[in-house]
Amino acid sequence: MQRVEHMGLWERLYFPEILRGLMVTGYHFWRNLFVHILHQAGLAKNLEAAQTVQYPDERWPYPDTFRGRHRLTLKQDDTVQCTACFLCATACPAECIYIQAGEYPDKPVEKYPVRYEIDTLRCIYCGFCVEACPCDAIRMDTGLHPANWGFSRKDFVEDRELLMQRSRDLDAKGKEGLYEEHVRRYRHV
Ligand code: SF4
Ligand code: SF4
Repeated sequence: MQRVEHMGLWERLYFPEILRGLMVTGYHFWRNLFVHILHQAGLAKNLEAAQTVQYPDERWPYPDTFRGRHRLTLKQDDTVQCTACFLCATACPAECIYIQAGEYPDKPVEKYPVRYEIDTLRCIYCGFCVEACPCDAIRMDTGLHPANWGFSRKDFVEDRELLMQRSRDLDAKGKEGLYEEHVRRYRHV
């Protein structure tokens, strides 16, 4: 970014720069619109126009490192791996993880999350929670974008059961199965 003292008078006036930005945006908007209309009429097929991916109906292939919707991993007996240590909630820059710890009957484990919730409207999908977890209890390897539909704030809060079920579904159906379920829910809203 240019520092203010290095800007010329023309740039310091701001208004011309705002105008220039609007002209660039306007140029791309009208050009794309015009080319798409030509394409619809079967003309100018050699001219490229920008496309928006209509997720979730369409999607790009994502790398394995893509940080998608969270899941809570499970132990072999199907109980939650999380020990309610709060490290993920402490590391979370968006403060969107809520944990309520409970005593576990199994003494060596000590604690488990009675409540574990992620407010996905606040989450920035940075992956710090996954990095912070000492026991691989939370992952973001589902390959799914967050849900972008819902009618109230609570529709976007993912609770412990949902996050655990996502691990079971991934295990049973794979990433493709998870994605199909994701699309099915989207279409039935
Ligand atoms: S991905 Fe980042 S913002 Fe989202 S819950 Fe994890 S730490 Fe918080
Ligand atoms: S998900 Fe990991 S870091 Fe977060 S409370 Fe559970 S065990 Fe601790």
